[in-house]
Amino acid sequence: MSKKSLLTEMRDTQLAIELIELGARPQVLETETTLSRERLLKLYKEVKGVSPPKGMLPFSTDWFLTWLPNVHSSLFINIRRYIAKNSDCEGIEAVLKTYRLYKEYLHTNQIDEVLSFTRAWTLNRFFENRMLETAVCSGCGGHFVVHPDDLHSQYVCGLCNKPARAGKTRKAKAAEGSLQSSGAPAGLPFTGEPAGMALAGSEARTALTATV
Ligand SMILES: [Zn+2]
Repeated sequence: MSKKSLLTEMRDTQLAIELIELGARPQVLETETTLSRERLLKLYKEVKGVSPPKGMLPFSTDWFLTWLPNVHSSLFINIRRYIAKNSDCEGIEAVLKTYRLYKEYLHTNQIDEVLSFTRAWTLNRFFENRMLETAVCSGCGGHFVVHPDDLHSQYVCGLCNKPARAGKTRKAKAAEGSLQSSGAPAGLPFTGEPAGMALAGSEARTALTATV
């Protein structure tokens, strides 16, 4: 075995462990590393103590357009763009960094996680393949995840125009409260600052500048 392939294998093993710990499903591991399926399954069992869930990734673009997932997806994509602009990270490293910042933001603001790592990874793929894009909300100026085929000239985001049912679950209420208590306008993390993206809430901003 050449030196290079040994190093690649070590790097991929490390990456796979990190991904498994974050909850990535086997398809993500197979796409992002050069390790064999058998190797990955063994690794997964060692790290998690159980076999990975079977089956294909069930996600379609539609899920990312529903109310609460859309708010979280938009937050994720705004952070992703910030990373692209302000760091040398790319590929899976950038996705990992974005996801950590997303989790950090939720933790700071005591918001429940909506995007699993696999969902976030899938969202990133949808953007790379132009199956999703962002539109600017005419109400708050934030950038939100939308379907490219829809019309967006007078787009109003889910935070500016909340569906009646959105506030009814306890979790949604808590999320909304946290979002608004951060002192940002309704569109909170998505206000279109010239610098690219703005994470509202000084904590998130600090987290971003500290980590990037
Ligand atoms: Zn809005």
